[in-house]
Amino acid sequence: MCGRNPSYGWTSLQAGKDLLKQGLQSRLGNGKETNVWLDHWLPVLPPRLAQGNVQHLNMKVEELWKQGEKSWDENLLRSVLTHEDAELAKNIRLSRFAIHDKRIWSYTSTAEYTVKSGYWVATHLVPDNEKIEPPAGSLEVKKKIWRVKMEPKIQHFIWKAVAGAIPSSERLCSKTLDIDPVCQRCSKEHETINHLLFHCHHVKAIWRGARFAEFDNPNSTLEDNIRMMLQINERSTLRVEDRFLPFWIVWKIWKSRNEFIFTQKSTQAAEDVLKSMEAVAGWILAKPISPIQHNIQTQGISATWEPPPLGWLKCNFDSSIDNDYMGVGWIIRDEYGHYIESGWARLENVGSILEAEGNGFLYVVQRVWQKGFRQVWFEGDNLQLVNIINKQKDSLVLVNLLVDIYHWISKLPLCSLDHVGERRIWWPTN
Ligand SMILES: [Zn+2]
Repeated sequence: MCGRNPSYGWTSLQAGKDLLKQGLQSRLGNGKETNVWLDHWLPVLPPRLAQGNVQHLNMKVEELWKQGEKSWDENLLRSVLTHEDAELAKNIRLSRFAIHDKRIWSYTSTAEYTVKSGYWVATHLVPDNEKIEPPAGSLEVKKKIWRVKMEPKIQHFIWKAVAGAIPSSERLCSKTLDIDPVCQRCSKEHETINHLLFHCHHVKAIWRGARFAEFDNPNSTLEDNIRMMLQINERSTLRVEDRFLPFWIVWKIWKSRNEFIFTQKSTQAAEDVLKSMEAVAGWILAKPISPIQHNIQTQGISATWEPPPLGWLKCNFDSSIDNDYMGVGWIIRDEYGHYIESGWARLENVGSILEAEGNGFLYVVQRVWQKGFRQVWFEGDNLQLVNIINKQKDSLVLVNLLVDIYHWISKLPLCSLDHVGERRIWWPTN
């Protein structure tokens, strides 16, 4: 015996293995190597196991796809997983070109394990068996709120309303503060966030005064009402002022309510409507709302534009995100700076700028390939995307989108991708 505790090595190895497992996430390829209930495959941080109606513990993710196809069977998803997890799963991009399921590390943007991130996981992670209370409010609605271009303080307020974090009397009362939960305006009902913003007779007069009959439904939930606000914001037939007015009304209601409670000053509904309208008009004047900007198409050759080598084309592209859609624009020029072609496409919306840039790039690469161009120098303005692609890294955000991108650029071995203003890096041509 050498005197050391013989079990020490084993224990720490085991701990390390568990730790690694906690931080690993499955990037879905064929879906055969990932267990629905025992592996981390939902795109959430920290990674957690899927929840739902477990029929057999051996179920593989592939069984949630349409037979013989790489696409989710949404009905099946809904019957197997909880609503929340089905929504998460539905948004996972599947790639025809990803063959194997691959475990990737969840705590660095490059999906590579680092000692530092491992340490973070070891000290912060909650084990699977300790259930984490999910935050209140629909994730989808919260995401939409962040996409609306409006005054940040109002955006934040609406987000907090959805998350149940507005200190209405009922909220404070439920937090065991000694506060009367009843609405002080009408003294009829508890002052929930929904009551205070939409259902109290006082605020009903405001909504009617502003001609929004949409909020007159006495059975609507808070989420219904917020969704309605977002929906009104998307109605292109309305004047811009009217599309944004509900957000300002909600904000005004909250301000007036606080004045009423803390200084006993009461305002008329009509006055609040007028003030909200003024505020929206002022905001629009100060900050005009532009549609997705077609930067690339309108801009001439800038001072930093560098011609491609002889016989090559240069393709500048740029992605942008609007409320509902993302777009990508591109322009192709030859070595003399002559215009060859340009375009702009609307793509399905995605959750992050990086995904938008990745989607945009993929679209442009496919387009270039279809057009028969083979020697193209692509130039984008997202350094992160350029770095990931040139170093052929994995990315936790892009996941299968990257598999598709790598597949398509492999069809264009004589091309390169570059960040505007950076030194050129060539794609490996193996
Ligand atoms: Zn009330």
